[in-house]
Parts: sequence; structure tokens; C-alpha cells
Amino acid sequence: MIHMPLSVTKDFQIREDPNHKGRGLFASRVFVKDEAIYPLDYWSKELMPIHVTNHSCNPNAAFNQQGMLIALREIRENEEITYDYLRHPIAASPWDFACECKSAGCIKWIKATKY
Ligand SMILES: [Zn+2]
Repeated sequence: MIHMPLSVTKDFQIREDPNHKGRGLFASRVFVKDEAIYPLDYWSKELMPIHVTNHSCNPNAAFNQQGMLIALREIRENEEITYDYLRHPIAASPWDFACECKSAGCIKWIKATKY
């Protein structure tokens, strides 16, 4: 079931995730491995890409030391963009929730405190 995107840019779409996870960030186009996706910015607008980027225990993106989200592998158009919250806690933490990423190495519960 395809939900109407809440927000669309040439790079991303914010959609309601059909798997009960709430909102998610989905790629509007292909991102190649090592490509920059978006810079860490939790504060400048009410709805930023990071607000809706879900955690995965087997993510397709990660923040680098400069605070840029980088594709860990090729991300297909319409694929959900995810990163590992436990490797990148941000000032808007804490998190404490059951993980629904369903990846083979899922740790089942995400608990992270602030820096
Ligand atoms: Zn998981």
C-alpha cells in the first residue's frame, strides 16, 4: 500500500510508514555508496529529514565525523533511508523503544541517552 507523501523534494519523501513505525524518510532518487544525503540539522525547521529518519540495526546510511549522513551502500529510489541511532545519538535523544527493523541482527530494543 502506497501512502501519499507528506513532503517531497528531489531527494526525499516523508511518508507514513505502513509498518506501524510512523513517519519515515524515503529516497526520491538513487543515492550511490558514499554519497552525502543530508547534514545533521535537528533544529532549523519544524520538520527536518532527521526527524523522520528511522533507526535500523542494519542501516543504509550513517553520519560521519562532520555530521553528514552518508550512504553506506547504494540506496534505491523509494527505499527507506535509515541509520543506527545507537551509533549516532543526538541532542534530541533519549530514545527508548522496541525496534521493528526486522533485520537479521536486530537488537530488539533501542535505548540511547543524550551525549
Ligand atoms: Zn532492529
